[in-house]
This record gives sequence, C-alpha cells and structure tokens, in this order.
Amino acid sequence: SEIRENLTYPIFGQAIRELAQTIADDGYEPDIILSIARGGVFVAGGLAYALDCKNIHLVNVEFYTGVGTTLEMPVMLSPVPNAIDFSNKKVLIADDVADTGKTLKLVHDFCLEHVAEVRSAVIYEKSHSLVKCEYVWKKTDEWINFPWSVEPPVVRREGQVLDA
Ligand code: 5GP
Repeated sequence: SEIRENLTYPIFGQAIRELAQTIADDGYEPDIILSIARGGVFVAGGLAYALDCKNIHLVNVEFYTGVGTTLEMPVMLSPVPNAIDFSNKKVLIADDVADTGKTLKLVHDFCLEHVAEVRSAVIYEKSHSLVKCEYVWKKTDEWINFPWSVEPPVVRREGQVLDA
C-alpha cells in the first residue's frame, strides 16, 4: 500500500518517554538493555537514559534488504553477545519494530538460554508478528518510515575539503 506510518525525530522522543514510563510503571528494572542494530540502537539509547540503565549491549541482525524484501531468515552477525555477561541478568531487548517478529524471536530465544529474565520493548508492533512484545508504544500494519532511515546515506560532495 501507499500508506506510510511516518515517525519523526520529535515524535520519536515522545514515544521513548512514553515507552519508558510504561516499563517503569510495570516495575521492570533491566540490568542490561540489548539493542538490535541498527534501528534498535536509537530505541536502546533513549530507554537507557529514561530508565537510568547504564549497561547497553548490541547485537547485529541482518534481515531486510529493502521495503518489504527480506532474506529467508534473519541471521545474528558476529560478534554474538557474550553469554557470561548475561547470566542471571534481567534483560530488556530494544528494537524499532516487530514486523514478522522473526528478528526479535531470534534474539529472544538466544537470551532465554542465558539470562534470568528477558522482555522486549519496541516502538511499533505489527499484528502478524509472531512475537508479542511486553512493551509496545504503537500498533500498526503500515510500512513505517523511521527518521534515521527514511533518507539515503549522504554522499561526498566535491570541493568540501576542510582545512585542519
Ligand atoms: P522483523 O524481523 O520483525 O520482520 O523485522 C525486523 C527489522 O526489519 C526491524 O528491526 C526493521 O529494521 C526492519 N523493518 C521491519 N518492518 C519495517 C517497516 O515497516 N519499516 C522499516 N523502515 N523497517 C522495517
């Protein structure tokens, strides 16, 4: 469809505060926030400040190659998080969206084997997601434009060499 859910940076800021408030109200105090790169890094950073958690970890998962086009299965790229760091910890997985939910399921299943408790927080969750996250800011079934990926990467301009 042509319809897009457009997240802007200002609305993102508001969403993070509201998501964090929901987590705090629920009494969940994570020891570790595990972000799924790259989109989840924004969410994890915001939640880490709002929840006063100084321990952020990161996992790289490759799945989407374009709008609606995916690899068959998401894969966790190396380095995979160190299981020892996670033992007996309360972990909060942070990502931008649970769409098929396959990415979150991959990371969630990895955590289940190693941690005391694991929950997930996302800005968006789609109704067909095979994972139901504990904390969701908004449900949508549209393709979402995120502020960090809606524009193409910058390209180098000629004549822009800066003097030291
Ligand atoms: P899933 O494994 O849940 O299908 O999707 C995981 C990742 O795919 C998300 O973290 C996100 O990076 C990307 N993705 C899924 N749906 C959307 C969408 O509607 N818009 C954008 N921009 N990325 C998406």
